[in-house]
Order: sequence, then C-alpha cells, then structure tokens
Amino acid sequence: MDISVVIPLFNEEESLPELCAWIDRVMKDNNFTYEIVMVDDGSTDRSWEVISRLQQENAQVHGIRFQRNYGKSAALNVGFEAVQGDVVITMDADLQDSPDEIPELYRKITKDGYDLVSGWKKVRYDSKIAKNIPSKFFNWTTRRMSGIKLHDFNCGLKAYRKEVVKNIEVYGEMHRYIPVIAKWEGFNKIGEQVVKHQKRKYGTTKFGLNRFVNGYLDLFTIMFISKFGKQPMHFFGLVGSVSFLLGFIAFIVVCVLRLCNRIHLTTSVWFYVSMLFILMGTVLFLAGFLGELITRNSTYRNQYKIKERI
Ligand code: UDP
Ligand code: MG
Repeated sequence: MDISVVIPLFNEEESLPELCAWIDRVMKDNNFTYEIVMVDDGSTDRSWEVISRLQQENAQVHGIRFQRNYGKSAALNVGFEAVQGDVVITMDADLQDSPDEIPELYRKITKDGYDLVSGWKKVRYDSKIAKNIPSKFFNWTTRRMSGIKLHDFNCGLKAYRKEVVKNIEVYGEMHRYIPVIAKWEGFNKIGEQVVKHQKRKYGTTKFGLNRFVNGYLDLFTIMFISKFGKQPMHFFGLVGSVSFLLGFIAFIVVCVLRLCNRIHLTTSVWFYVSMLFILMGTVLFLAGFLGELITRNSTYRNQYKIKERI
C-alpha cells in the first residue's frame, strides 16, 4: 500500500464526507493505493455515524472510535499504530488542509528520501491575534531549542516514512512536537513544504489560547527528557553541585569574616545566602538520586530501537 492517511477528529461531522471524497479523488487521479484511518476522538456529534456510512461506501476507509475525548495526540498515536502504508500522511479533519498536497508530499518522502515532511501554512486563514502572532513566537522558540529548521511545527498536514510513525510515541499534547520527537529518535532528514491553508468551513476550533501555555510547558518537558531522561543525575547533580559549591565557598568566607570579627553571623545576609545555596544543592542532589531510582526501575531505560541487523 502506498499511502495511509490518518485523520484525528473531534466533532467534525459536516466536513468528513467532503474530505473523504476529495482524498479519494486525489488518490485515484495519481493511481495510489491507499487507506484512510479516521480516529474519532470521542465526538459527541454524529461523526461516528458519518464514518460508518463512509466505510460502507468505500472499503479503503477505516474508523477507530475512542470511548471519550483523549486529545489529538492520542488519536494520532492510535492511528499510527494501525497504519500499513509506506508513506503516512496526517491531516486535520476540518478541510483546512488540502489533500491536493498529498502527491508532492509523497514524492518528497519516496524520491527525495525525507523521513518527515511538515506542511508550512505560509499564508494562514486564522485570527491574527489568537493564532498567527503567538504561533510565530512559538515556532521561533521551538526552532531555537530543537535545532530543527521548520517554520510551522504545529501544521496538521505532515508526511512520514512508515518507520518513523512506528517508532515514535505521541502522548499528552505532544502532537505539536512530532518533528522534535522524530529527530530525537534518530530520524533527522526533516523537510518542509509550503501548503495551502483554507478557512475553517464548518464547526469551530478545538483549541483555545491555553494551547500556548501547554505548548511551552511541553517543550521544556521534551527537551529535558530528550537530554536527561535516561540519566537525570547528570542534570540535577550538576546544578546541585554548583549550588552546593557556591554555598560552601560563601560559608567559608562568612566564617573567616566572623573569626576576624568583621561581621555578626545572624545579621549578615551572606550567611543566609550561603545556607540557602547549600540547602538547594542538597535538595537537587536528592532529586537526582530519586530520578535515578525511578529510571533504574523503568523498562524505558534500556529500550533501544534497532534499525538493522545482519
Ligand atoms: N482534534 C481532535 N481531538 C481534540 C481536538 C481536536 O482530534 O481533542 C482534531 C480536530 O477535529 C481537527 C484537528 O484535531 O481535525 C485540529 O483541530 P482544530 O482544527 O480545532 O485546530 P486548529 O486548526 O484551530 O489549530
Ligand atoms: Mg483547524
């Protein structure tokens, strides 16, 4: 099978028939063998009925329905487990992403050898204040922190080599950072394609402004775990040692000054500062040990993805 299209959706009943027909048309025009995996993320409208009907009309359509709303990342993750195509395309269900981009994305993966190609909504049709400006800032920080040169990390339209989706885990709200997760798993040929973006035709957006707050917290988590997830002591131990050392030096200085009768211990601010640093260092060290104990008992510590054996 050439292509699997994964579509996470939450209350998108109006868009689905149109989207499905459009994808089908593009696939037929280009002679692709394909499947569409629609993951209904606990919709409360008639989305699932629509998917069942589409499935009866077209055997290429498959549906997975969640018991409740788990979020876009969960939907993508389950979709990724189910796919069979050599190239996997993800797209939003709301018709904002255009299936006409699929052939070029497919070509980039199969001919140009990319692991992942991300869409770039160069011209956006969302509200400026709520999305465009914060998202520019968000993309800039993610670029700086991850070293991946993408303009639009959060674009729903992306293409992957099958191995990539089978080797990454998307959870929480990490769908914004799939390129970062992929890079961290060793898939670093990451490309970009300018894609057309449409105004939302039906329904409303499912993400509010808190997307940016959560987005940033997730970015810190992801950078921390990728660097220190397997050896937390390398982080806590280092910061803790520096803090302890600074505190200790300050304490010696304070003691010397006290012996020369230059200060009173309890009235000197430096005495308290030195105590604070020593205490912080000890606590950080403790956190490091606890982190080590936790990773020691986790199966994750020795999980390596093997690419090939001969
Ligand atoms: N979505 C989902 N689960 C959720 C929220 C959203 O599967 O909890 C889907 C949604 O149906 C759409 C895609 O994720 O297909 C992107 O959502 P939306 O269009 O609301 O985001 P925006 O385009 O505003 O960034
Ligand atoms: Mg949308």
